[in-house]
Amino acid sequence: MIELRTPAEIEAMRPAGRFVAEVLATLRDETTVGTNLLAIDRCAHDLIRRAGAESCYIDYHPSFGASPFGKVICTSINDAVLHGLPHDYALRDGDLVSLDFAVSVDGWVADSAVSFVVGTPRDEDLAIIDTAERALAAAIDAAVVGHRIGDISHAIAGVARADGYAINTDFGGHGVGREMHGDPHVANDGKPGRGYPLRAGLVLALEPWFLQTTDELVTDPDGWTLRSVDGSRGAHAEHTVAITDAGPIVLTDRSFLGVD
Ligand code: MG
Repeated sequence: MIELRTPAEIEAMRPAGRFVAEVLATLRDETTVGTNLLAIDRCAHDLIRRAGAESCYIDYHPSFGASPFGKVICTSINDAVLHGLPHDYALRDGDLVSLDFAVSVDGWVADSAVSFVVGTPRDEDLAIIDTAERALAAAIDAAVVGHRIGDISHAIAGVARADGYAINTDFGGHGVGREMHGDPHVANDGKPGRGYPLRAGLVLALEPWFLQTTDELVTDPDGWTLRSVDGSRGAHAEHTVAITDAGPIVLTDRSFLGVD
């Protein structure tokens, strides 16, 4: 079922969005060569506890999950791109890091992801991060009343295809509200003018992600981490966006923090 939020409810979602933005900015700032993925999770956990927020991940146990996730953040490294389960690994020079973070504050969820490189970057890693971010910007621009879900999907795919990346449509964006995952699904490719009409009050997590030379994923033995089938690296960008009559509001925008 697709739920629409009142303007007051969208205002009530702002603290969750702001908190997720702050945590991702902090973690991005503090993550460097040598940082252990378990330390990133611990830091996120401390920030959640201090804020009185609630993790959407720690007890997350969907039908495809082997067991509850048990951590509060996804850390996907290099050829892992989604759902990376934090494990005992110290980041190395040039690692491509994707952090995906969702919490509930005052009963409202916000969900956001960012990719970056620690240490010396490879050009091709910076390129795919840039594509994911521009695809997200195009998705947000398309998230306006009068469009349909397919217009968002088409905008994402247009950016990816122009840069030569294949697109996986199994994992994509979703409705966000009291729960992390709601209807509608927002595939990262689709036909313009098709699908559910975008109405004021629809709140979506938009999340383009791409791999360098494939669109196929395999699951790690941990039951969660999704990795490219060919070892090529991936990037992910995500924001929680409210569609309003005055245009899209990026609830998880980090720009007020002076970071991208
Ligand atoms: Mg997310």
